[in-house]
Amino acid sequence: MNGPLPLNETHDPARRSSVSAANAPGCDFPIQNLPFGMFSLDGGAPRPGVAIGDMIVDLTAMQQAGAFSGEADLAARAAGEGRGLNALMALGQAPASALRAQLADHLDAEARAGFDLQKVLVPMGSARMHLPARIGDFTDFLTSSYHSMRMRKSDDLPLNFTSMPIAYHSRASSIRLSGEVIRPHVQTPDGDKPRFAPTTQFDYELEVGVFIGRGNELGHPIPIDEAESHVFGYCITNDWSLRDVQYFEGQPLGPFLSKSFTTTISPWIVTEEAMRPFRTAARPGNEDQPSPLPHLASDETARTGALDLDLEALLQTAKMRTENQDPVTLTRTNLKHLFWTFAQMIAHHSSNGCNLMPGDLLASGTASGPDPENRACLAEISARGTEPFDLPNGETRTFLEDGDELTLRAFARREGHVPIGFGAATGRVLPAT
Ligand code: MN
Repeated sequence: MNGPLPLNETHDPARRSSVSAANAPGCDFPIQNLPFGMFSLDGGAPRPGVAIGDMIVDLTAMQQAGAFSGEADLAARAAGEGRGLNALMALGQAPASALRAQLADHLDAEARAGFDLQKVLVPMGSARMHLPARIGDFTDFLTSSYHSMRMRKSDDLPLNFTSMPIAYHSRASSIRLSGEVIRPHVQTPDGDKPRFAPTTQFDYELEVGVFIGRGNELGHPIPIDEAESHVFGYCITNDWSLRDVQYFEGQPLGPFLSKSFTTTISPWIVTEEAMRPFRTAARPGNEDQPSPLPHLASDETARTGALDLDLEALLQTAKMRTENQDPVTLTRTNLKHLFWTFAQMIAHHSSNGCNLMPGDLLASGTASGPDPENRACLAEISARGTEPFDLPNGETRTFLEDGDELTLRAFARREGHVPIGFGAATGRVLPAT
C-alpha cells in the first residue's frame, strides 16, 4: 500500500438512505457507515446483518433474493457461512468493499435497481445481537504514552514502550457483548499472607479493537506497508481490569486473572473502508520520540495511520438509576492520541512470524490522552485508588461498585464528511457470588 487509502462513492456525504432514521443527525449508522454484525430473531440461528439507521439488513435474505452480483455476491455468501463473519473476513478487503458499494446503491434514497428492501429489513429493537466473529485469539496492546506514564507515575517512557507496541495475550473465550459482569474473587496480599476475596479495584479500560481480515502464513511477517490490508474493521473494546490482583500477579509474566474473566465489545464492526475519511497523523504530542526501527516505520502510517475517533465512557450507578438520573461522563478522549498505529501493532505482532487469523481481535490498549478528561480508566482518574472523586449526586468512587453500569461509545466526526458511530458496549457490575 502506497499513498493514502482512496475514498469512493460510498463515502459521498450527499448520499441519503431510503431508511429515514439513517438520515437523522447524530445517527450512528448513516448510509456512509454500513457496519457488519451477527443477529438473530425469535431464538433462531445467528445470521449476518448490516446496520442502517434503526434497522438491520438481513444479508442472507438479500443475497438469496438476488440483490448482489460478482465479488459482492461472493462476499454476501461468505458472510452467511458459519456462526460468525470469519469467512467474509478471510476474503480480504476487495469483496467486502464490493458488497459495501452494492449495499449502498440498494439503500440509497435514489436507488434505481428497484429491489424491494422491505422484505430484508429487520427492526434493530426486535433482534438479538451475537459476537460478530469466532474470535480465535485476542491480543491487548499498551499504546498510549499518557496511560503508560500515569500508571507508572513517571514522566518518562521506558525503552520498550518507545521501541515497539507492547502487548499481552488475553482470553478469547470470555469476550462478550453488553451484559452483566460478576465481581470476581481474586488473590491479593494481606500483610505477609495472601487472601482470596472479592476484588476491591474493579476497573474499565476504554479501547478500540481491530478485527483481522486476511491472515498471514506462519513464518511470514506482514510488512508494515501491507498491514492496513489485513484490517477488516473496528469495534469498541472494554478490557475490564482488576488492579489489586493485576499488580500482585503481574511479576514477571504480566496480566492473567486480572483481565481474563470478561472483555466486553460492541456488536457492529465498522469497516476499515468506512473509517477512511477519519484517518489522521500518528503520535501527536510525542514528536520528540525517536523513530521506530524500519520494520515498524512507514511514511504512510506516520501521515495517516491514526484514527480521529471520539471515545467516551459513561457511568450510571444503582442510585442514579433508582432516581432516574442520566449517566455521567467519566472519560472523553480520542483514539488519535495513541503512540502506535494499528498498522504498527499488526506488523509488530507478526514480526516474529506469528500467524494472525481472520477474526482475531487486537485491542489498542487504554486510549488515554494528555488532558485530565482523557484519562480512560479509573486507575488513572483516581491515581491508582489514592484519590477518590465525587459524582454529581454526592456519591464517591475510586473503582467500580456493585450495580454500576458503564457504557462506552465511539463516534467519528470530520468537517466535510457524515459522522459515523460505533453503537455502544455496556456492562453492569453484579455482586460477587
Ligand atoms: Mn487493556
